[in-house]
Amino acid sequence: MIKAIVTGGAGFIGSHLVDALADSGAEVHVLDNLCTGHSSYVNKQATLHRHAVESLEAKELIVRLRPDVIFHLAAQADVQQSLKTPAYDAQVNVLGTLNMLEACREGGVRKLVFASTSGVYGDLQKERIEEDDPVAPISFYALSKLAGELYIRLFHRLFGLSYTILRYGNVYGPRQQAKGEGGVVALFTDKLRLNQPLRIYGDGEQTRDFIFVKDVVRANMACIGQGDQQTFHVGTGRPVTVNTLVRELERLSGTSLAVTYDPPRPGDIRHSCLDNRKIIGTLSWQPSYDIASGLRETYDYVKSDV
Ligand code: NAD
Repeated sequence: MIKAIVTGGAGFIGSHLVDALADSGAEVHVLDNLCTGHSSYVNKQATLHRHAVESLEAKELIVRLRPDVIFHLAAQADVQQSLKTPAYDAQVNVLGTLNMLEACREGGVRKLVFASTSGVYGDLQKERIEEDDPVAPISFYALSKLAGELYIRLFHRLFGLSYTILRYGNVYGPRQQAKGEGGVVALFTDKLRLNQPLRIYGDGEQTRDFIFVKDVVRANMACIGQGDQQTFHVGTGRPVTVNTLVRELERLSGTSLAVTYDPPRPGDIRHSCLDNRKIIGTLSWQPSYDIASGLRETYDYVKSDV
């Protein structure tokens, strides 16, 4: 039986990963300070430890537990927040990641799997971005994630810690809150539930690679015994416009939605689509949800969660 720690395991993506790990029979520990997460999301078979990832307590916990693998998802994950408070962003995302790495070294942890972002490429204009394309973040959030990646690679080089870096597209699904990175689906379904107009920044023709949370979980699970020292995209390889999202939601809800268009915001990226051939070829992972099936499951969840 493997022993796993999921940092951010009370959050949107982390809590789904904890469910999958618990289902697989793993011993699961969640390290989360609940600043955006919820204890109610944490699987009953997992143990919740309420500490900040950048704290001494968190480091001591890892050294004591000596897990086989750490899935490091805890983060300040809100792009707009990172522009307002870059130092806090760095505290959690850079110093927090460094603290986890030092804990891995002291605790003899074999592997760390890191939740990174397609945001590291900034506004790179390319139809499908590949993993070795140049990085150039345009938000402090993406910069802090890139710094995390660089620390991880250096820890491998200096101390032999194994890692897999997963750069996610825009993740959506049940339990996502109506804020944070990639929160557009959650925002829209929330407005739909409240019967309020949807607000789009820009003309709505900006594209994203929307990936359903259960596919992201399977990508993380696939890293347990493979993919060491590799960086992979976790995306569908298919660009979807924000206007398409609106049309899909109209179809699901059977209503016509009111939309307001506002100017684009700083830090927002125009087009983003991830080439996923590397993860498909190396980890035998495939996205199993397209935007229609993923939105259907998300919409059903939002409707039942009132
Ligand atoms: P989330 O906010 O739902 O989850 C983050 C979790 O981390 C929360 O439970 C929160 O309480 C916890 N946390 C925050 N700061 C902490 C700290 N200092 N110490 C301990 N715990 C802390 O966000 P999410 O969307 O589930 O994102 C999970 C990870 O995936 C993040 O690392 C994020 O950067 C990354 N990511 C998300 C997306 C997306 O579209 N949602 C895209 C790319 C990457």
